[in-house]
Amino acid sequence: MRSVSVFGATGSIGESTFDLLMGQGGPAAYRTVALTGGRNIARLAEMARTLGAEIAVTAYDDCLPDLRDALSGSGVVAAAGAAAIAEAAARPADWTMSAIVGAAGLVPGFRALSHGGTLALANKESLVTAGPLLLREARRHGARILPVDSEHSAVFQALAGEDLASVEHITITASGGAFRDWPLDRLARATVAEASTHPNWAMGQRITIDSASMFNKALEMIETREFFGIDPARIEVLVHPESLVHAMVGFRDGGVIAHLGTPDMRHAIGYALNWPDRSHLPVGRLDLARAGSLTFRAPDPVRYPALRLAREVMEAGGLCGAAFNAAKEAALDAFIAGRIGFTVMAEVVETVLERLSASGDLGNAPGDLDMVLQADRAARRVAADVMTARQGS
Ligand code: NAD
Ligand code: MG
Repeated sequence: MRSVSVFGATGSIGESTFDLLMGQGGPAAYRTVALTGGRNIARLAEMARTLGAEIAVTAYDDCLPDLRDALSGSGVVAAAGAAAIAEAAARPADWTMSAIVGAAGLVPGFRALSHGGTLALANKESLVTAGPLLLREARRHGARILPVDSEHSAVFQALAGEDLASVEHITITASGGAFRDWPLDRLARATVAEASTHPNWAMGQRITIDSASMFNKALEMIETREFFGIDPARIEVLVHPESLVHAMVGFRDGGVIAHLGTPDMRHAIGYALNWPDRSHLPVGRLDLARAGSLTFRAPDPVRYPALRLAREVMEAGGLCGAAFNAAKEAALDAFIAGRIGFTVMAEVVETVLERLSASGDLGNAPGDLDMVLQADRAARRVAADVMTARQGS
């Protein structure tokens, strides 16, 4: 029986993963090792009971009594805190879903590689902040990382059996997010509620806002670079409002292989769950006659400054990815809290990168996780300073 763990089980990706596990036999087909979540204790406990998990972990210490209560008599061990999540990740499992949001997913994903097996990686922040370390850790332990981000799953599928050396370009698509058709001068006044609705995909709030700002696509450009080891100049982004083509790989003979499907993350999750096989998945089928047309346009650099920043980060290398992601997370927190405007997020991130680069702090290649976590903390500190100074001025 295959053993599985799901980190971030109560989130959007976690729920879809649970849905697929249940659809493919649930506890009769999988031995569940660990499930983790945040404050939604009732849901975490329900999932853990249903799958008969060994251990359920909440990220928050103050939630532990409730989790213990909710699991009493179930035989599922309850635990809390970041260290407990990391320990749960070190428990061997054949297949682990990494679906915690943000840099908090880095250490658990890293730990999960230590016992070999497969890491299904939804947490793109891991690759953005510590790509080379993660890939090295996987090689060291004979573990396999499979992409879960829809664009990267699409590229992975288009590259099956192909030689990377013959790739001319990788194009990832973007819906354009909530504000793709807004007049530019309105963006500065966009509210959190407006930024939290996505035209095509149902996702967690943070990645939905990151889609509106294209910080999500910026992270995904870096993720593409890290995962596939491709020259940044060969990575392209196209706005594709229908979200039916997820990525395209162009080869040196002029041929292009695209991956299409309805926008449903259960496709990419299911592909990673069943790989190298393909199993029936409960996702909508593509109906191109009904779609009628597929449209594409180049992203507007003024509307989406995050894409330019991603290119600068890839060119600079070193610890820039870690600083970029952390500054973005801090700016996003501040936007959600109503402390800064929508367009200020990119300005904050750019200023943080400029300051840290000028001080030479980001030049070193990440030698270990501590260096990455240090760059992450430094970027959050500088971001806080930058935002305080802006409010004061
Ligand atoms: P979400 O906010 O819906 O869920 C996040 C999960 O992580 C929840 O279980 C939450 O409790 C947990 N969590 C949050 N903060 C935590 C912390 N500090 N420590 C431990 N656990 C914590 O997020 P999501 O939309 O499911 O996204 C998860 C990851 O997958 C992200 O990295 C995102 O970029 C990536 N991703 C998501 C989608 C999507 O469709 N939602 C698509 C592609 C990639
Ligand atoms: Mg994506």
